[in-house]
Amino acid sequence: MSFFTRQGKAFVIAGPCSAESLEQVMGIAAAVKPLEIDLFRAGVWKPRTRPGSFEGVGEPALKWLQEVKNAYNIPVTVEVATPTHVEEALKHGIDVLWIGARTTVNPFQVQRIADALKGVQIPVMVKNPVNPDVDLWQGGIERVAHAGITEIAAIHRGFSSYNAPSVYRNQPNWAIPIELKRRMPDIPIICDPSHITGNSELVPDIAQKAINIGFDGLMIETHTNPTQALSDAAQQVTPDELRDILEKIVVRDNAEPNTESIGLEYLRQLMDGIDAEIIDLLVRRMELTEKIGLIKKDENMTAYQPERWRDIVDTRGARAEQAGLSKEFIVALYEKIHGYSINRQLEILQGVIKELKS
Ligand code: PEP
Ligand code: MN
Repeated sequence: MSFFTRQGKAFVIAGPCSAESLEQVMGIAAAVKPLEIDLFRAGVWKPRTRPGSFEGVGEPALKWLQEVKNAYNIPVTVEVATPTHVEEALKHGIDVLWIGARTTVNPFQVQRIADALKGVQIPVMVKNPVNPDVDLWQGGIERVAHAGITEIAAIHRGFSSYNAPSVYRNQPNWAIPIELKRRMPDIPIICDPSHITGNSELVPDIAQKAINIGFDGLMIETHTNPTQALSDAAQQVTPDELRDILEKIVVRDNAEPNTESIGLEYLRQLMDGIDAEIIDLLVRRMELTEKIGLIKKDENMTAYQPERWRDIVDTRGARAEQAGLSKEFIVALYEKIHGYSINRQLEILQGVIKELKS
């Protein structure tokens, strides 16, 4: 049994996105202690996408986490992104380390962290890289394993996508953690529904989905006053909400996820992910349609261009056939898509739509 698995229940990590003050971490720890969580998280060094946001308080916060650990007897975990972070965290008795999504993308940096871990025994969690690359994720885990670390878990926190309007902050792309599990069946996978959804209301649904697929645990950002949080305010749940999530979660009987015996639920999860991607792609296609519509308007062109349509039918039909799909099916689908696009462009030509969303 791994450090990161529990018989018949999920391994639960809770705590704030960032450690903000001693009172804040102690208050949250007091509130989540009765929920019997397995690990308390708090970011001490925060890798922010843009400068100017809260970047964490650094070393002093490690002392606050030591106090949490001593007062409530809960193991604590922080994100490390440099060898110095590793050294500081170890010096302060941090129990578990995690490598963040913006670090996993960089093999040089992961290797530097792995080198700093040589000769140390501490459980380490490796978040997926921000880009949907299962090799990079696997590579990060291997680098940590080659350093001699034996207790390793993967954290699925979703993947960035460019300009794809979606309900989620990061796309779940469930097929990627499932593929990682196929390749590395002994590595427990923990889902981080907070960073996937970016929205506390959607956290319970993604948490249950992950458990249904066969994930081993959940990392849920928890704050006693989420709206006032210095980072990730929209996605943190309150301790009461966390209790509700953990009470309602249905743990599957088969504690050992078995990707060989693929069940109906598993296939549907995969399909849900693919459908979400199809819709996101259609939204992006429609944005291009609108831009083209504006050019047609400026150039005094007609919305329907028969040659272009013939070209779409030929190229998409041929591609579909090559990929083993029926040409008739794809042409029928494109008749719908193209028809919808032409209608949108007509609205632009007729001045119904004047400005596009940026
Ligand atoms: C975090 O867990 O607060 C965090 C920064 O996550 P990620 O690396 O997944 O963006
Ligand atoms: Mn966060």
